[in-house]
Amino acid sequence: MAVSNNHKEKLEFIEETTKNTDQVQAKVLSEILSRNAETEYLKRYNMEGATDRETFKARIPIVAYEDLKPDIQRIAEGDKSPILAADPISEFLTSSGTSAGERKLMPTIEAELDRRQLLYSLLMPVMNLYVPDLDKGKGLYFYFIKSETKTPGGLVARPVLTSYYKSNHFKHRPFDPYNVITSPTAAILCTDSFQSMYVQMLCGLIYRAEVLRIGAVFASGLLRAIRFLQLHWRDLARDIETGTLNKEITDASVRESVKDVLVPNPDLAKFISDECSVENWAGIITRIWPHTKYLDVIVTGAMSQYIPTLEYYSGGLPMTCTMYASSECYFGLNLKPMRKPEEVTYTIMPNMCYCEFIPIEESYGKVTGSLVDLADVEVGKEYELVITTYSGLCRYRVGDVLLVTSFHNAAPQFRFIRRKNCLLSIDSDKTDESELQKGVERAAELIKSYGAGIVEYTSRTDTTTIPGHYVIYWELLVKEGGRWPEKEVFDKCCLEMEEELNSVYRQGRASDIIGPLEIRVLRSGAFEELMDYAISRGASINQYKAPRCVSFPPIIELLDSRVVSTHFSQGKPQWSPRRKDMK
Ligand code: AMP
Repeated sequence: MAVSNNHKEKLEFIEETTKNTDQVQAKVLSEILSRNAETEYLKRYNMEGATDRETFKARIPIVAYEDLKPDIQRIAEGDKSPILAADPISEFLTSSGTSAGERKLMPTIEAELDRRQLLYSLLMPVMNLYVPDLDKGKGLYFYFIKSETKTPGGLVARPVLTSYYKSNHFKHRPFDPYNVITSPTAAILCTDSFQSMYVQMLCGLIYRAEVLRIGAVFASGLLRAIRFLQLHWRDLARDIETGTLNKEITDASVRESVKDVLVPNPDLAKFISDECSVENWAGIITRIWPHTKYLDVIVTGAMSQYIPTLEYYSGGLPMTCTMYASSECYFGLNLKPMRKPEEVTYTIMPNMCYCEFIPIEESYGKVTGSLVDLADVEVGKEYELVITTYSGLCRYRVGDVLLVTSFHNAAPQFRFIRRKNCLLSIDSDKTDESELQKGVERAAELIKSYGAGIVEYTSRTDTTTIPGHYVIYWELLVKEGGRWPEKEVFDKCCLEMEEELNSVYRQGRASDIIGPLEIRVLRSGAFEELMDYAISRGASINQYKAPRCVSFPPIIELLDSRVVSTHFSQGKPQWSPRRKDMK
């Protein structure tokens, strides 16, 4: 009864807030501006305590991370004066977006945790409208934390989910029958990813008959879990058969967390061995967890590349993308979670932050026109998202491109189109064109002494492997008197490129979330053939430029059929939690 009343309240909250989108947005902006009136930032732009939209829009510039970097640097170095926000900065959230190769540092305040929690609390009431009886079983979720660092001024810097899982909101969450998960908190909080995954999978197998939904934050994470099962099912089955935990699990609190649930169960062990030992893993998810109603994973944006593989392993279970969020701020949720991935739209909740939108055609040069408010965006148009948050980001460009598809009450619903400047992504890594270019240039140094150079290159992600990896296509020119580099040189070029990529990529490689980079050397003339193909499909011959990333299957086929040699990175690029931009 109490739970259903709570769900009712949450749904009413969604209705009320979205019906009054513009009023809520005005209130959010005025709250932010009045609370932060004495901050250095708002004073710098002569806000003089004004809290209205007109003054705000007239005086505050639209900024990107680079513009805020000097202020952020000061906070990181320990300046506690109210620079961006009046409330003390409680920590930095490290975004997967990078600046000069390092994760962006997003300042946050204590109260933001409550706002994030509020958004989380809306998800199950919505889901419950579409999928019944989720309170009659458990969710198998693979959640992980990442390492954290301290800035020179002593503030913790870590990813937003690490911050959330370590918070009391998560660790001491009250019992909610709709949110019972199989993973012990100790396993989620274990920084050793092997031990964490092992025990989360073990518990998922033990509770297999009760599991109603399976998830991870991103599709790539769930596929990693499947791969883990492929590699470790024998050990897991042995543990279940004997009721004793693998000695490789050394973390005392993780061992303690399964003490009562791991009891000898030879029948279950045999079942797992029988299912996992067959060659064909099609539908393995529903074979092992037969009551799964849906997969709770984000498959929009860059994650859409994993849909076919997830369909294969799950036998076509629905995939629900429940929310749209970032380190800067949590934005909103999917009010129709059972829709197909290509139809997913997110409703930005007007209470989370103040949002403005740059029409996409105006977002490439200097933004001169006025920005559009949340309630005023038009269906069918694409926009770049700009936010003003309680944590002190003012008119900040997130870099996401969104398409308005419809309205829920007065709140627009958006399809996530893409992240600006993101060329390649396997997990949360985002590699842009200039980073790729720098990587290619650095690797090209290794073939210079052979009289060889790269005439043209392009790239793509290959997700047929788990984990997926970057593929770079090179066409070479060897000058007269030069010679073709040996295989080992090309192999070295792969690692050399990886060394140049940003820290999120290198961290992904260090933890095997991303597979070794591959270079495919093409025969001479391949890029000319690519151009001919593009022109035959209508590209202008004068304006043609080789694409820096390809995804269209016929083009990939064309390139792959011209490959003369393939090379993989033989090592791992350097990565350490220490940031290069902090002393
Ligand atoms: P981060 O700053 O590392 O937390 O990453 C946030 C970014 O991830 C967002 O700005 C989006 O580009 C992307 N993202 C978050 N949620 C979604 C979603 N539901 N669908 C597609 N992309 C998303």
